Amino acid sequence: MDNKIRSAEILCVGTELLLGDIVNTNAAFLSQKLAELGICVYRHTAVGDNPARLRDALSRALESADMVITSGGLGPTYDDLTKETVAEYFGREMELDAHSLGRIEEYFRRTGRVMTENNRKQAMMPRGAVIFDNDYGTAPALALCGGENDSKTVIMLPGPPSEIIPIFNDKVLPYLLSRRNSVIASRNIHIFGIGESAVETVISDIMKCSKNPTVAPYCKDGEVRLRVTASAQTENEALKICDEMISRIEATEIGQYIYGVDIDSLERAVVEFLRERGLTLACAESCTGGLVSKRITDISGCSDVFLGGCVTYANEAKMRLLGVRAETLERYGAVSEQTASEMAEGIRAALGADVGISVTGIAGPGGGTPEKPVGTVFVGISTERGVQVRKLSLSAMRSRNYIRNVSSNNAFDIILKFCR
Ligand code: ATP
Repeated sequence: MDNKIRSAEILCVGTELLLGDIVNTNAAFLSQKLAELGICVYRHTAVGDNPARLRDALSRALESADMVITSGGLGPTYDDLTKETVAEYFGREMELDAHSLGRIEEYFRRTGRVMTENNRKQAMMPRGAVIFDNDYGTAPALALCGGENDSKTVIMLPGPPSEIIPIFNDKVLPYLLSRRNSVIASRNIHIFGIGESAVETVISDIMKCSKNPTVAPYCKDGEVRLRVTASAQTENEALKICDEMISRIEATEIGQYIYGVDIDSLERAVVEFLRERGLTLACAESCTGGLVSKRITDISGCSDVFLGGCVTYANEAKMRLLGVRAETLERYGAVSEQTASEMAEGIRAALGADVGISVTGIAGPGGGTPEKPVGTVFVGISTERGVQVRKLSLSAMRSRNYIRNVSSNNAFDIILKFCR
């Protein structure tokens, strides 16, 4: 048997999924887990409780992938047909598994519920299946290998997330790891200032050609993360393969946008960056309402770097606390390059910080004008080297939260770029 599982499809069974009654969180969970294992997920499919369509989807999935993971349809009722359909597909008989029956009977005794005859169905297993006990429900999970030289694997898991998550973590994961004669390791490259599609364009050849390591992009609030996953005989070797790929990616034009490897957030990168250089920070915020300060103070031990900040929403507050000139506000407006610049200088002077940061903008949904639509934000930085202001033109269709998050991300990014 070829032990290697390189690719998988996820096949979720349940009419509720198709009716939109439930969201397919199992597919997301399984995909994340398989990505961590370096197994490439080709496709997600959802089918109703219909054996013909299930068989069809199974056959299509197994044509391309080494493994299919199903969720749902392992229950006791007549329409729970996943096991039977897979057994038939691989030409296996169903037989009673005494161990599973014993556990199901014990489960009903323990929970004081009456076991009905159809619960015995949950102990019927295809011949040759590897069974994973379910400590959180009655339906055991199982793996069945079949096809030519048993080269295809189907893992069948129950539907409820409260069951699938622990069974996968406790039982299926060790099974999958035991099927491989290598270990896997991953590293995450964190990127800001360039979009996901631009990242993909630059490294598309690397991503397409490289099977080991694999490189997968993820994107959130303007940030891009590249997950590099390698398999090798030892963890050190796998990490070395990842590091070689990271060096290759750093050497591309993406390099200038990388703010860290295996770092959990931009704000942590900023705190570490300022600490290494012995620099202190102060923030003046308008539209972010303190979000920049909040995110910095989420990092425990930031007090050696972060002196404090003000939320200066009204013009009066900008003038009184930061020394923004009335004339500047009148002439250019509160949301302007000039105001952002004076806010950054003002907070730096007020707190005696090395770095002053400012954010002023229109987070929406109201308040936009044709010249300054919702999503117009100015992020300023002041240091002894001078002042710089970055103008953001974010989509007015985005939520207030998104605009504030991306603005605070830019405040962190401008520190990393300007003070480099
Ligand atoms: P059991 O007999 O233990 O209920 P089962 O394998 O028969 O398990 P289903 O009857 O298909 O599972 O689903 C049970 C419940 O699990 C559904 O009502 C739903 O709440 C949840 N569920 C099923 N599939 C998914 C999914 N893909 N994502 C999230 N939740 C799901």
